[in-house]
Amino acid sequence: MRVLISGAAGFLASHLTDLLLSQGHEVVGLDNFITGKSENIAHLTGNPKYTFIKADVIEPVKVDGPIDRIYHMASPASPIGYVKHQIATVKVNSQGTWNLLELCLEKNARFLMASTSECYGDPQVNPQPETYWGNVNPIGLRSMYDEPKRFSEACTMAYHRERGADTRIIRIFNTYGPRMDPHDGRVVISFIRQALNNEPLTVFGDGKQTRSLCYVSDLVRGINMVMESDFHEPINLGNPQELTILDIAKEVLSLIPESQSKITHHPMPPDDPKVRKPDITRAKQILGWQPVVSRREGLAKMIEFYRAGLKK
Ligand code: NAD
Ligand code: UDP
Repeated sequence: MRVLISGAAGFLASHLTDLLLSQGHEVVGLDNFITGKSENIAHLTGNPKYTFIKADVIEPVKVDGPIDRIYHMASPASPIGYVKHQIATVKVNSQGTWNLLELCLEKNARFLMASTSECYGDPQVNPQPETYWGNVNPIGLRSMYDEPKRFSEACTMAYHRERGADTRIIRIFNTYGPRMDPHDGRVVISFIRQALNNEPLTVFGDGKQTRSLCYVSDLVRGINMVMESDFHEPINLGNPQELTILDIAKEVLSLIPESQSKITHHPMPPDDPKVRKPDITRAKQILGWQPVVSRREGLAKMIEFYRAGLKK
């Protein structure tokens, strides 16, 4: 198949590209580098099955030739990234989604929307099943991200219902691994960078808020399985092993025993969800998918990657 991936130079899409190429598909990557990095796709230079287009999906997207699958992965994804690029984040998850849905109809392709656990906001239900409608602040400091993601889901379902578009929706929970931007402020990469540089680990608040961490290879395998399923409603993808942020900090330090870093506490950002854990019953039943990489194994692989080349 010939597959288009938006956000191709980003963390997740670069791993998804590697998976699809390993399956023998042709991949067309598209990115405007607002948060992505050319290093993430440098290894693909010269690959005859890979083409890169530097473009912004908020403009109408033109791609020559047939396209069978469209993965819409483009969007700033870290709280620092989407607050820095508020309007671009709103646009990529509204006009950008719209443009790619139009392209999906034009090319008669299948479309997958990369949505997020942020759709559940600061959840009052834990774990979160796909049937939970969420608790989102529509004007808060995450609203430029979570509300347009919710809009993207609505837009995707509207194209599916009214125009017969062949669509899929995934809600991705916190994922970690090599190729994360060391400075985008997300918790796992921040703690690893800080520990490797002997800097204090910055735990926000008392660190009792929870997250559930999925290793990137598990996640991209799940994304591909959703695309190749015949299920149109949202599917949660994430690792249901929930732990506190303080525990994540301690675990990172235990895996970098030479680190001189200590844990420090900083004010909690506004609207920071207090708990997050995916209910993955749907993914298990419909796809037969569940994560297989243990956290210690995943963290060890990620630490090995950043030990090799981390710059302050
Ligand atoms: P990332 O920032 O590493 O990658 C996103 C990529 O999209 C970047 O390369 C960026 O340059 C590109 N991009 C942004 N706006 C664009 C535009 N208008 N046109 C073209 N390219 C554009 O982030 P990531 O962690 O790889 O996230 C990928 C997707 O998965 C995002 O849609 C994000 O919302 C979603 N997601 C990720 C996580 C996670 O834990 N990583 C969790 C939930 C959802
Ligand atoms: N966090 C933290 N220290 C950091 C970065 C993040 O304590 O240096 C906390 C943050 O407050 C949140 C959790 O870790 O409760 C996850 O943050 P991240 O930005 O990775 O993703 P989120 O799930 O909030 O989008």
